[in-house]
Amino acid sequence: MKKIRFIAFFCVTVIVLLSGYSLKANAEGYIKWVDCNVPYEILLNAYEYDVKYYGSEEVQFDFAEALAYLAVKNGNKYQVKKDLKALSDLVHKLKEGKKISDFYGDNKYYIYYVESYRAIFAQFIGEYSVNDTRQYGLKNYHPFPKGYWYNHYDDFGASRSYGFKRKHLGHDLMGSIGTPMIAIEGGTVTEFGWNKYGGWRIGIRSFDGKRSYYYAHLRKNKPYAEGVQKGSTIEAGQVIGYLGVTGYSRKENANMGCPPHLHLGMQLIFDESQYSGRGEIWIDMYHITKFLSHNRVEVKKGETDYYSVNVKKTISA
Ligand SMILES: [Zn+2]
Repeated sequence: MKKIRFIAFFCVTVIVLLSGYSLKANAEGYIKWVDCNVPYEILLNAYEYDVKYYGSEEVQFDFAEALAYLAVKNGNKYQVKKDLKALSDLVHKLKEGKKISDFYGDNKYYIYYVESYRAIFAQFIGEYSVNDTRQYGLKNYHPFPKGYWYNHYDDFGASRSYGFKRKHLGHDLMGSIGTPMIAIEGGTVTEFGWNKYGGWRIGIRSFDGKRSYYYAHLRKNKPYAEGVQKGSTIEAGQVIGYLGVTGYSRKENANMGCPPHLHLGMQLIFDESQYSGRGEIWIDMYHITKFLSHNRVEVKKGETDYYSVNVKKTISA
């Protein structure tokens, strides 16, 4: 009897722990962790539907809601073929007059995923103007400009050492030293200068405060574009600095012994206590950068720096 009671207690404990683990929001009322593992193919397909049905009376499509619908349906275990089909079936149902929220609208996981995806993708898709022409689509930029090579694989969470044992909470994109680095999204520069891990780095907090982007290992001697400093206001698509291989040293301006790459991080902040310290939420940027490869800015060489041309300007609603 004792044994059965123990097993029952053990199972309940595991279930409680697991449900806490998957939902990751608690009584304090803000989200504690997000696993964004939406494959590139799904992001792109959902994006194409979003653009196609933008302003449509017939179909009410919403990018974040559609992803949340899929995450609830598949238990956050994406399978490209199956989920592309589920997305297409969803659109058929929307054409019959349903809304996405009709399916899982009051499901707590659905609400959690909608809030998570809205936080991540808030500024990715929207209205913008280029040369005074109004358009709708992808407006956040890939960190590498048009025509510059890069190479990457999904390395989020891999364990790293470089003398400092810690989990890799970012995404590395290999490239050539001196490649102009582009701000994915606009915001304010909150971190700037030397860091013993990231070397010359720059941290940009989004205007709504919910995201912080981290670009590290910038170039020795000339890491930043002129005028970029702590407190600067940055626009999406702006040249902020140059790819390099600095870091992992207490000594400033030191290169490390590995191939040149950009270390890119994206952090979510639902509560200010999550900005730095133990509660930090970092997002896997592998699939997101693949998605962003559909929007690469063109750069030209100026006197002191490279600069971006034909940058999309956000139109605020
Ligand atoms: Zn890295």
